[in-house]
Amino acid sequence: MAEQIKEWTSAKMLGEDRQGEVYSDTLEKDSTQKHFYIESYGCAMNFSDSEIVASILQKEGFGSTASIHEADLILINTCSIREKAEDTVRLRLREFDKVKQENPGTLVGVLGCMAERLKTKLLEEEKLVDMVVGPDAYRDLPKLIRTAEDGDKGVNVFLSREETYADISPVRLDSNGVTAFISIMRGCDNMCSFCVVPFTRGRERSRDPFSIVAEASDLFNKGYREVTLLGQNVDSYRWSSPDGEHQVSFADLLRMVAEVHPDLRVRFSTSHPKDITDDVLFAIRDYENICKYIHLPVQSGNSRILKLMNRTYDRAWYMQKVRRIYEIIPDCAISSDMIAGFCTETEEEHQDTLSMMKFAGYSMSYMFYYSERPGTLAERKYEDDIPLEVKKRRLNEIIQLQQEISKFHNSRDLGKTFKVLIEGDSRKSKDDFRGRNSQNKMIVFPKVAGFKPGDYVFVKVTDASSATLLGNIVTL
Ligand code: SAM
Ligand code: SF4
Repeated sequence: MAEQIKEWTSAKMLGEDRQGEVYSDTLEKDSTQKHFYIESYGCAMNFSDSEIVASILQKEGFGSTASIHEADLILINTCSIREKAEDTVRLRLREFDKVKQENPGTLVGVLGCMAERLKTKLLEEEKLVDMVVGPDAYRDLPKLIRTAEDGDKGVNVFLSREETYADISPVRLDSNGVTAFISIMRGCDNMCSFCVVPFTRGRERSRDPFSIVAEASDLFNKGYREVTLLGQNVDSYRWSSPDGEHQVSFADLLRMVAEVHPDLRVRFSTSHPKDITDDVLFAIRDYENICKYIHLPVQSGNSRILKLMNRTYDRAWYMQKVRRIYEIIPDCAISSDMIAGFCTETEEEHQDTLSMMKFAGYSMSYMFYYSERPGTLAERKYEDDIPLEVKKRRLNEIIQLQQEISKFHNSRDLGKTFKVLIEGDSRKSKDDFRGRNSQNKMIVFPKVAGFKPGDYVFVKVTDASSATLLGNIVTL
């Protein structure tokens, strides 16, 4: 049980297998070039940002390396969402320190949310760090590197109201060549009381929709077949033309990206229950290539706790949203995030979260126990009074229930045939492919000659566990 809890409490919006992922291109190393090494943690947004950083550095003449020992510049793109995420980064810094001692002159930069949260304090606490760069300051990296090369510390943690990196064409970190992230907005204006994101990523701003469509078209032309539109709260995406004449909502943007090509799948994350509109649901219903899957984090199933969390909806409102989604898109899968043991949560209130999970029938969830974060509203206003063992026990109950619900959800797919986008080889066997259906479920199936990653196939489901579906390619 302890191991399971460890696994789930550290799970992020991206799978645990991608935490600490290192970027490197496959180009032959040019010995005259300097090389950067970048390691990324946290949510999809951070991984997307690392692609922007890689692009900025390559324009500066840097090559990339997957070996920390070959690097002239070591970067770590960090997450602050829970205490454990920061602990992981601190441990990595100890490793970087050893490398720095072996190779004096190597520069170490901390990027992302932890850089923003701790600012110059990070330089005091971690003497090996040469640069501290917040999420809105990546364009400044070349200058900060020069400052650090001159022996000074390079710091820029300025949070912008405009920066969207719209004109920077990201270098793709995810090398499967089939699926890619596109950032459509930055920051968050929501102020959920438990969350550090508004402090580390600043005010919400939406990116020019035409640059988003251009990026999606470019990806399609390069062979990509799925894009995930990213933002902390995609449903509040709103762009106005400079003359104020044209407005683009998230539903409009979804349609614009879906029109790029019928073979380009469109996903998005994350939706806030208070902001997702019927118009968004109609767009999902009306376009075959907009995936029938909504990540709709509930956080808690109890209205009093939701109020303390400042989520701005209550249990009844959330349930109505779920009903509406299934009414408009009957084959939609919904997933969620849950926090166990938020300040003052009683056993009955925890039971409300369990009953909400049953009501919504989540296909999967990201589940955490509450981790108090310095500077947040909750840290200032409420006592973190639920003992750790109670938090862990409640979390474990949530996890057990989700496994049962996921198993049931998947068992309903037995015998059904889905259109699946092949993403690559199965992790367990080179004889099998893995891919996802529109509902974001992973399906593993034996390879058939003539098909390759990036192709669509129809797969009939023959077996199901709580995590994966198994099947065979069929012709319709
Ligand atoms: N913007 C998204 C939303 O509103 O759902 C996701 C934000 S956050 C990067 C991802 C998840 O981390 C949250 O949905 C929440 O469940 C969890 N989380 C955030 N702060 C937390 C905290 N202090 N303790 C435990 N989990 C937390
Ligand atoms: Fe954090 Fe809430 Fe914003 Fe999500 S919506 S990033 S949980 S403040």
